Amino acid sequence: NEYILEVKDLKKHFHVGKGIVKAVDGVTFSVKKGETLGLVGESGCGKSTTGRTIIQLYEPTGGEIIFKGNKIEKLKGKKLKQFNREMQMIFQDPYASLNPRMTVADIIGEGIDIHNLATGKERMERIYHLLETVGLNKEHANRFPHEFSGGQRQRIGIARALAVEPDFIIADEPISALDVSIQAQVVNLLQDLQKEKGLTYLFIAHDLSMVKHISDRIGVMYLGNLVELAESVELYESPLHPYTEALLSAIPLPDPKVERTRERIILEGDVPSPMNPPSGCRFRTRCPKAMPECAIETPKLKEIKPGHFVACHLYN
Ligand code: SF4
Ligand code: MG
Repeated sequence: NEYILEVKDLKKHFHVGKGIVKAVDGVTFSVKKGETLGLVGESGCGKSTTGRTIIQLYEPTGGEIIFKGNKIEKLKGKKLKQFNREMQMIFQDPYASLNPRMTVADIIGEGIDIHNLATGKERMERIYHLLETVGLNKEHANRFPHEFSGGQRQRIGIARALAVEPDFIIADEPISALDVSIQAQVVNLLQDLQKEKGLTYLFIAHDLSMVKHISDRIGVMYLGNLVELAESVELYESPLHPYTEALLSAIPLPDPKVERTRERIILEGDVPSPMNPPSGCRFRTRCPKAMPECAIETPKLKEIKPGHFVACHLYN
């Protein structure tokens, strides 16, 4: 099986007052061992919730999550502990996710202790080595998170994730909170680590330009659904879903003198509430190509070309 992770019809609904927010509503995709799958969409599309449900921060409402061939809901005892080590998460806000009262050494050492990976001198050496691996050094070990810049804090978050020797990392908007000048450095670090350690990434971002250079394949989410999934180059060159087309048309061109080959598509209106999504295709209230049937039938994700999946009635 070339897939390290398989997500089948995943649902995560939240009760809010008297309503139900269907944050993730039937999402299916797989991640190949060693690849980076980018997951993209506007805020509220369910991409973070998908990541958090996969890593069991949330209990799924429905569907299946299969990691290395095992259903994770069935994992217990040793197997569950192993899963908790093998899958790690890097968070968007490196400051909020680091305990301000713990030193960097304690933050990184926590996982080493929980999983009994090393003690004493060997433990400290591991921590120093991890700091070097992420571009920091020994001298940083006894400092506190507030003494670091945003980029350095994200490096600490990466070191913490690596400390338990994971093979799958969910990175939830790891560069969105960083200065543009720092973003490329963190992306390069993540790519180097992937090569060196054979890591698999689920890389969550709100905009396609952020995942372009790191993803092998990209999934696009809208209002709790996966609407398109394809290899990166294919998605950028031949997007099929009207929502993907609009997202791509919004990416600023690196050189303003280069002529835009894609018309800028401005979507009308806001993303509807996930509490009360439109019938049929959830994108229809903003879709420039909506047809009458789009209000009636919910389009299913289908493979239109080898490896290129889309959920849209234009491709029936
Ligand atoms: Fe637009 Fe209809 Fe396709 Fe939805 S199914 S994206 S409304 S054309
Ligand atoms: Mg988010």
